[in-house]
Amino acid sequence: MRKISILGSTGSIGTQALEVLRDNPGDFKVECLAVKSNYNKLNEQIREFSPKIVCVYDEKAANEAKKVLPDTVEIVTGMDGLIMCATMESVDIVVGAVVGMIGVRPVIEAVRAGKDIALANKESLVTAGHIIMPMAKEKGVSIYPVDSEHSAIFQALHGENKRSVSKIILTASGGPFRGRKKTELEKVTVEDALKHPNWLMGKKITIDSATMVNKGLEVMEAKWLFDTDIDRIQVLIQPQSVIHSMVEFDDGAVIAQLGTPDMRLPIQYALYYPDRIYLKGERLDFGKIGHLDFEEPDYETFEGLSLALRAGKTGGTMPTVYNAANECAVAMFLDKKIAFLDIPALIRKMMENHTVIDNPDVDTILAVEEEVYNRISKEGI
Ligand code: NDP
Ligand code: MG
Repeated sequence: MRKISILGSTGSIGTQALEVLRDNPGDFKVECLAVKSNYNKLNEQIREFSPKIVCVYDEKAANEAKKVLPDTVEIVTGMDGLIMCATMESVDIVVGAVVGMIGVRPVIEAVRAGKDIALANKESLVTAGHIIMPMAKEKGVSIYPVDSEHSAIFQALHGENKRSVSKIILTASGGPFRGRKKTELEKVTVEDALKHPNWLMGKKITIDSATMVNKGLEVMEAKWLFDTDIDRIQVLIQPQSVIHSMVEFDDGAVIAQLGTPDMRLPIQYALYYPDRIYLKGERLDFGKIGHLDFEEPDYETFEGLSLALRAGKTGGTMPTVYNAANECAVAMFLDKKIAFLDIPALIRKMMENHTVIDNPDVDTILAVEEEVYNRISKEGI
């Protein structure tokens, strides 16, 4: 029985990871669960999965949690607590499913401690891929992608010689605003942006899908996971979200992974790799689907995507600036403090005034993140 720690257990990915575990009793023993503040949901998870340690990151919430959570479980808090859950000696595999750059340190520490990782937290690879990937190689750690596109690429590459890959075709649904022009996006609301056509996800990534920043982050994520140049990654709109991504090889063959939009599949594949086990749920019915559509992305309307390509090609601290500006802007948009199109505008502004530092260490990455937040709060949009 493999021992598992789930960082972000109360989120969209975290709860679906626990669903996979629930459907396959006896395969995994939950050692740690980590959340930010939702101790009520955590409480239910503790009662069902009996972890040894839980982290409630937020100190105030942790103090409240101590009054409610069973005293059989050790409660830790803050970044030290999160890292404890990422590195606990007995743990074999860590699910990295917290949202945002808060995942950077725990993911790095999990790799340093030699833990395999089922990685959903793309922000850690975007900002610190140059640290995480070489360290994983050195430590013999496997990083299994959970992001559906990257899982699809990982599946398409299974058993293939990576040197014969000619390009990666990263598919995107296009989000709720596909086909609209910039002027039509000026007044869209938070509620409009949260209506994703195909996937039910956490709020931050749902907004990222509406701006197509998510696809931009995924290009950078793919660069690190599959050790490839940004120029060899093609973004392609596939509105039905049936093709989760594809790989083209030197002989012209294209291998794709298809499926219903269900995150439990990539989560399960990451946890059971290389095995495929039964997953209950709907199957694709090609007769009913009838046809699949493809479109080129609109880089002008979805400026967040073009800026990501620029940030990824520039490298160094630029992806951190891109990501931090986006995280800050998305939080402001969700709070209804800025408009939808202010998100890419803020990212652009922060990128334009940044002097790149090459090969940054973790402290530099986090300092640049803080600097971006400070500049946004001082300068505004
Ligand atoms: P959610 O917002 O649904 O969940 C986030 C989780 O992280 C919650 O459990 C939250 O706890 C926890 N968390 C947030 N901050 C901290 C912190 N400081 N310390 C500990 N735990 C924390 O996000 P998603 O599940 O949608 O996304 C998670 C990651 O997976 C993101 O990086 C996203 O880009 C990626 N991803 C998600 C997909 C999806 O389908 N949802 C698809 C592909 C990638 P609390 O509940 O207490 O706030
Ligand atoms: Mg994705």
